[in-house]
Amino acid sequence: MSAVEIKNLHKSFGQLEVLKGIDFTVESGQVVCVIGPSGSGKSTLLRCVNLLEQPTSGQVIVDGVDLTDPDVDLDAARRRIGMVFQQFNLFPHLTVRRNVTIAQERVLGRGRGECDQIARENLERVGLLDKTDAYPGQLSGGQQQRVAIARALAMHPSLMLFDEPTSALDPELVGDVLTVMRKLAEDGMTMLVVTHEMGFAREVADRVVFMDQGVIVEDGPPEQVIADPQHERTREFLRRVL
Ligand code: ADP
Ligand code: MG
Repeated sequence: MSAVEIKNLHKSFGQLEVLKGIDFTVESGQVVCVIGPSGSGKSTLLRCVNLLEQPTSGQVIVDGVDLTDPDVDLDAARRRIGMVFQQFNLFPHLTVRRNVTIAQERVLGRGRGECDQIARENLERVGLLDKTDAYPGQLSGGQQQRVAIARALAMHPSLMLFDEPTSALDPELVGDVLTVMRKLAEDGMTMLVVTHEMGFAREVADRVVFMDQGVIVEDGPPEQVIADPQHERTREFLRRVL
């Protein structure tokens, strides 16, 4: 069973068809990077994977559960999917610890002690155990993004979605976040990552998917899609970003 199966996924906003029949799979433990020009539908695709957007047609199957089935327990399925956005979306009035425990408590119903323990484990994982009592405003963007990653991990997801997690960061802060993501990949986390970081994609991804205008143009290992692209559209995009 694949971790993620996307079958003939279409998504329109009114007259605008943004996803025009997307098919791909992510195997358990794989890292798949999605690259492509702005407006090509990458965020919409990612948001369809946890049904933050309702697909117009097609299937999204995560861990064998068809999320597009109207009878599915969507809340239960979503709990298994972590998402990290470009904007970190931390609660500014809550400490780091509280940011990482609140959903554990309210959504999973874990007790206070267990939540704190799991928060500590995951803050340690992202290298921020010394910041548990800080507020988001006292942290750098890179630190805030690592808290957002710890918060997602604390829910014990089987799949992590990342939508340009380093695009809002100052260049010198990008590396720390990518290091955390690389470690996560090494630990065997299944990850679907929209990114413009070609170095990360080349080194960490098992597969790279190049999207343009709502279709997948190319899908293969990084040494093929990035180093030896077969399509002119891919080559043109890479010329601009590399
Ligand atoms: P990317 O992440 O690759 O930059 P997006 O998925 O964000 O692309 O957007 C793809 C297209 O869909 C864009 O033309 C965008 O304006 C449009 N779009 C995205 N979300 C919405 C929405 N909620 N309503 C209308 N149009 C949208
Ligand atoms: Mg986007």
